[in-house]
Amino acid sequence: MSKRRPLIAANWKMHKTLEEARSLAREVRQGLQPGFNSEVALAPPFTALAAVALELAGSGLGLAGQDTHWERQGAFTGAISPVMLKDVGCRYVIVGHSERRQYFGETDRLVNLKLKAVLEVGLCPICCIGESLEERQGGHTLARVGQQLEHGLSDLGGLTGAQLVLAYEPVWAIGTGLTATPQQAQEVHAFIRSLLREFLGAAAEDVRILYGGSVTPDNAASLMAEADIDGALVGGASLKSASFLGIIKAAG
Ligand code: PEP
Repeated sequence: MSKRRPLIAANWKMHKTLEEARSLAREVRQGLQPGFNSEVALAPPFTALAAVALELAGSGLGLAGQDTHWERQGAFTGAISPVMLKDVGCRYVIVGHSERRQYFGETDRLVNLKLKAVLEVGLCPICCIGESLEERQGGHTLARVGQQLEHGLSDLGGLTGAQLVLAYEPVWAIGTGLTATPQQAQEVHAFIRSLLREFLGAAAEDVRILYGGSVTPDNAASLMAEADIDGALVGGASLKSASFLGIIKAAG
């Protein structure tokens, strides 16, 4: 277990109507055991952000956007800006999720623009990086992750560790039921931290690096026992309060 406070973030993706989102947020809030150690954040779809913000008010639980545009406002039909996410009560914004990269053509350059925009309004990005199955099988995992990190974080200026969260999400493990072993994940997390030391100096020790990819209550504790795994970004298992609460409990 690392010295950094774990962050357990729920990515609800394109799930949950308003009423379903309210109920799930309420169940998570009410189901937390006193004295839990982690910070917890929920990323509902945009349509449910305001409703979930009300459910979480005064709880200390964080609200997160699943994506953002890189401009503050303008003629970008269908898009949501970081200013709007801050306005609705978000603390975090997921940036560069592999589904955005895969289905919406998001590039490292766009990720970089989004990170700058999110930081500029004082929100904390949860920046996702990770290799495909072909890249892992070809022995290119560290090169790919290093490239995403280098391009994504370029020209961000001096950051404190608290301003940034990274999520290592091997694409082959997302929504597939395949999980990286704790050793596989730790190898990449340690590599990410070594690169962060080059970019950010001492602040790298305070950046939380989450693991994401089929995290469940059964595998969460062994993953988070690794030195550089500082929490989890959870998709499927965050859609039911029992499994999400089980992951929070496993984080200690
Ligand atoms: C995710 O979407 O970020 C994710 C990790 O999904 P899952 O937990 O379902 O693999």
